[in-house]
Amino acid sequence: MNENVERLRQWVKGSGNIVFFGGAGVSTESGIPDFRSVDGLYHQQFAYPPEIMLSHSFFVQHTEEFFDFYRKKMLAPQARPNAAHRKLAEWEQEGKLKAVITQNIDGLHQMAGSHEVLELHGSVHRNYCEKCHKFYGIESVTGTSGIPYCTCGGVIKPDVVLYEEELDNHVMQRAIQYICQADVLIIGGTSLVVYPAAGLIEAYRGDKLVLINKSPTAVDRRADLVVSGPIAEILGGL
Ligand SMILES: [Zn+2]
Repeated sequence: MNENVERLRQWVKGSGNIVFFGGAGVSTESGIPDFRSVDGLYHQQFAYPPEIMLSHSFFVQHTEEFFDFYRKKMLAPQARPNAAHRKLAEWEQEGKLKAVITQNIDGLHQMAGSHEVLELHGSVHRNYCEKCHKFYGIESVTGTSGIPYCTCGGVIKPDVVLYEEELDNHVMQRAIQYICQADVLIIGGTSLVVYPAAGLIEAYRGDKLVLINKSPTAVDRRADLVVSGPIAEILGGL
């Protein structure tokens, strides 16, 4: 038994105030690609790189191309929660975990049964008419082709934070609050270089900061415990 994993097990066992902060790596193990990672396929299939196609100005100027890319690359209706999602939901149920803070937009934490999920970058499951703000589910995008329109004629926009757009300040404040009060803070599946990840860690005041990642990150030295490995395997095995 790896002694770092064993120490993590003890910290989890002794805590009633765990907060988890996760990035793309949590979902890649459910088969959802990290769109920020360099992928040669994009260049074969699309005329622009993902960070352009997922920007606010691209959405406004090339709405139809945006939805083409979005449907093909951002939606993964067949994806299911993995052992990491399930373990976190279990801890919440047991009253050990207070919140999941995620950079992912796929809704897999809720699918696994988690309730307190702070989605920093929004969710593909929420969509709104730009004109009358009527709410639509994911089927408004998956069940249509071209640009999805509201009954009022407005464009239906996914409630995901595009490049050039601001994060939801209310969600950020709640995330900071949870991290600030956390006993154990577990961070996984994120390189921590992407805003706002680095800033959120600053809010943590405890002495049980755990990093779970496949490869070393820039903030490993700040962590009280570093566990190397795939997150679904590590959390699932606890
Ligand atoms: Zn409308």
